[in-house]
Amino acid sequence: MASSSQRVAERAKSAVPGSFERLARYLAFAPISSEPASAPKLQELAQTLVTDLATLGMSRARVLTLEGAHPCVAAEWMGAGKDKPTVLIYGHFDVQPVAGEPWTTAPHDLVRKGSRVYGRGSADDMGGWLSHFVAIESWLAEEKSLPCNIKLLIEGEEEIGSPNLSRFMDAYPDAFASDAMVLTDCDNPSTDIPGLTVSLRGLLEIEVAISSAASDVHSGIWGNIVPDPAMTLISIVARLVDADGRLRLGRKEIDPAWLASSHDVPLTDAVIRSGARLLPGVSPLPLRGLSPAAWGWREPAVTVLSTTFPAPGKEKNAVRGTSSMKLSLRVAPGQTAKELLALVTAELTREVPGGLTVNVKEMSAASSSWDYEAKGPAFDASDRAYEKAWGRKPLRIGIGGSIPFVALFGQRFGNLPLILNGVIDPETGAHGPNESMDVGVYEKTVIANVYLYEELATLKS
Ligand SMILES: [Zn+2]
Repeated sequence: MASSSQRVAERAKSAVPGSFERLARYLAFAPISSEPASAPKLQELAQTLVTDLATLGMSRARVLTLEGAHPCVAAEWMGAGKDKPTVLIYGHFDVQPVAGEPWTTAPHDLVRKGSRVYGRGSADDMGGWLSHFVAIESWLAEEKSLPCNIKLLIEGEEEIGSPNLSRFMDAYPDAFASDAMVLTDCDNPSTDIPGLTVSLRGLLEIEVAISSAASDVHSGIWGNIVPDPAMTLISIVARLVDADGRLRLGRKEIDPAWLASSHDVPLTDAVIRSGARLLPGVSPLPLRGLSPAAWGWREPAVTVLSTTFPAPGKEKNAVRGTSSMKLSLRVAPGQTAKELLALVTAELTREVPGGLTVNVKEMSAASSSWDYEAKGPAFDASDRAYEKAWGRKPLRIGIGGSIPFVALFGQRFGNLPLILNGVIDPETGAHGPNESMDVGVYEKTVIANVYLYEELATLKS
């Protein structure tokens, strides 16, 4: 005989096609948080979600507001009682703009083509939280209850960097109070391999400036006699990188077990060549014993943002008196921006030829890296739920960039289990034209959610 969760999973699976009508309705709001003119649309969508959450059986469905912020939507179902854990599910209902992008379908219409549904916000992040709506609705329809208490918190400002999320956490602590959190806005390494995000790199931007003279001077007269700050700048910045051009400072030891599993990430040579639009004849950097995932997620990196070298059209035969460069540094998980800044500054300022002074300045507040030990009963529970729905445990993955809401949840609730998953896959094209969601990924995620609530219910018993 099928267990109750199996019956709920069956019901949820059959509810998936119908849920696309709801997705189409939400997408049509075009809730673009970066466009002030869309603010009323975000309000309307928030109200619509409140109505829908109440209809599917959630309690206290409400719009949370703060002066100067797009709203959040909150709802809960606390019927499992005090002896069961409360799980918070976070997602966001706002989307990225589409202006100027070459969409082949109307971006705010949900269009199904083959195994994917297209539309701005389909996978980032409407499909993420809708997969929970379907799972919750199926439990309530089939069993009249859920295995654990659930709170939903759907933000309206993620795509502009969650500028007020910390204030929402302060103003509405009860909406966040929980025993475990499922943050559903992250990647899967492929449509067959579910992902559990466990790390982020941080970001630090610096300016390196160097001067030699009060003005530019004739290079025919003074070249070869006085230092050229541009050349000195090039040579000292080059100290930061190895022969491959990778930052050689602040490298982290990579856990061998994780490194072995990271080869499952389908970042093959061909995927890198096409994904990064490499020209014929150009090779990805040599791996030097690591995997592409290890280089992209776990090691620090440096990129040139801009320079004050004279631009084309501004040529003159002069030694320029000053020169500067802006660099962005990706901070490795488990490393602070301060540590990396200290290493880089020491390297840039040691033994500068010609008595030139190098100034290194932090340009704006650094964003923290995040390194999470996804171990313990909540992650075992998530592994079991995914195994039932996907046929395998989630792969522990990282993100090479910074996501403000993740770092914020990490700072505020890092003592709780934070389960980061989602419905995005490598074909999704989030933040670009023709964003889409794989229907199979969505369906497996709906079913994983059904089991996840049951598995997480065992955290307290
Ligand atoms: Zn997102």
